[in-house]
Amino acid sequence: MWERYSRQIITFAIGEEGQKKLKESSVLLVGCGGLGSTIATILVRAGVGRLRIVDRDFVEITNLQRQILFDEDDLNSNIPKGVIAERKLKKINSDVEIEGIVADFNPSNAESLSEGINLILDGLDNMEGRFLINDLSIKKGIPWIYGTCLSTYGLTFNIIPKKSPCLRCIYDNFANSSMTCETAGIIGPIVVLIASIQSSEALKILTGNEKDLRYDMLFVDLWRNEFEKIPISHLKKENCPACGMGRFDFLEGNKISSVISICGSNSIQINPPAERFFELEKIVESLKPYGMVVFNEYLVKFFYQDYEITIFKDGRAIVKGTSDPSIAKSLYSKFIGM
Ligand SMILES: [Zn+2]
Repeated sequence: MWERYSRQIITFAIGEEGQKKLKESSVLLVGCGGLGSTIATILVRAGVGRLRIVDRDFVEITNLQRQILFDEDDLNSNIPKGVIAERKLKKINSDVEIEGIVADFNPSNAESLSEGINLILDGLDNMEGRFLINDLSIKKGIPWIYGTCLSTYGLTFNIIPKKSPCLRCIYDNFANSSMTCETAGIIGPIVVLIASIQSSEALKILTGNEKDLRYDMLFVDLWRNEFEKIPISHLKKENCPACGMGRFDFLEGNKISSVISICGSNSIQINPPAERFFELEKIVESLKPYGMVVFNEYLVKFFYQDYEITIFKDGRAIVKGTSDPSIAKSLYSKFIGM
């Protein structure tokens, strides 16, 4: 059964013992875009035991340049990325238990999604979600690996509860850059590189080689040929709200907004004010008088004026065609109801 993994087992790094540990491990991957689809591919091929992927989006034409799990058939299929990823990854390695979950990662589901998880990998495109991962990690003692890319550069570091500084130690306040891959652009190789480094650190943790982990921040700019290790260990703060004082502002929902603009797609996501469950058939009927409606078992897509509104079973909606949160909110309350 190990023949598939023989090439990595014979390395000094993994060995049979490491491979067994990998098989017994469970990983939560939050976000299946550029970073996420590379990380998922590497970990599934390497033989991780269980991979749970959470993603809220669909495949768009602008994704194909760097998101290696997706192809042209996935465009306009109206099948969410989480479902496509699960199907494709199962074909790559049927030994791995793969769960593709179509959801927004937020305070209402973060704890249940991390049930039984040994490691969390960041495939997100926004800081808010990362602070939520951070709270979850510190509260439950689960390590996580941060990764981000923009333009031609990227950076990554590991957050190991009790051993390393956490995200809030490093970024004191809400350090959210207004630059996105929509405005600053992004090249494919930096995404795959940062995701590979995240995956490699993940393999160290999952095969029991924590001693080999990197405790510095790694910054890479592929165009300027810069590879820099930036020490961050000294940034661990005793008065850090999360790892110092045990206050989890993001997990408790104090800092999470109900309206999120989605990186690179002129879209706004609206989260329902409370947890709700929609019968999609009923929504289809109520929307039909106002415009074209298409639907499947996962979602309803509604075309109204220049907007395309996608509604999921959990009440979440993505309004495409605007980057103005107030327009998106008013469309949501008009057609779905706050
Ligand atoms: Zn901290």
